[in-house]
Amino acid sequence: MIRVNPSGGWLEVICGPMFSGKSEEMMRRLRRAEIAGRRVVIFKPRIDDRYDTADIVSHAGARMRGVAVASVSELTASARAFEVVGIDEVQFFPSEVVAAVLALADAGVRVVAAGLDRDFRRLPFGPMPELLAHAEFVDKLQAVCHRCGGPATTTQRLVDGRPAPYSGETIIVGANEQYEARCRECHERGEELAAVAA
Ligand code: ADP
Ligand code: MG
Ligand code: ZN
Repeated sequence: MIRVNPSGGWLEVICGPMFSGKSEEMMRRLRRAEIAGRRVVIFKPRIDDRYDTADIVSHAGARMRGVAVASVSELTASARAFEVVGIDEVQFFPSEVVAAVLALADAGVRVVAAGLDRDFRRLPFGPMPELLAHAEFVDKLQAVCHRCGGPATTTQRLVDGRPAPYSGETIIVGANEQYEARCRECHERGEELAAVAA
């Protein structure tokens, strides 16, 4: 592959719980790259067609044009010709995204990947451990704990206002659920489905 940046590519990972400002930080970095005259693009996984605007939107309402892709191969094909490639919600991509991102960085692309480092159970999320291990630069952001106001490092999933069962699906599209940022102390483990049923 032709090197896009003569100075070489690299991988930056922005991680943290929901509401920690990952998407805002991604947009800040890519806007600056745009100002510097770079060809930039932000991808996000196409997981839910019902809300499919391709835009990247932060919880505070900031917005930037994005491209929704259905697969890693679509991402790779669309990333050609860009010098700076952002990937938001990268935790939702399958593990092949790691090789794809490394290939882009090897080809001279600056890759900025933002995603949840852990799921609502506090377990590492999808491809994030590998991306974090390979990254040249890592930032782990904190949100504000919805309970105590301290630094929140976890995401609390609530179903009908109660901590979600630990054994529930990681991704439930369209469920009656809500998320809060919580600190370690305030994060609650949901009851098992079996225990609830008994
Ligand atoms: P992420 O992509 O990490 O989910 P966003 O960049 O979308 O985060 O949103 C960050 C913004 O969300 C903050 O600037 C703030 O305005 C808002 N916000 C809402 N709830 C919280 C919270 N509990 N902690 C921090 N920011 C919050
Ligand atoms: Mg986000
Ligand atoms: Zn707390």
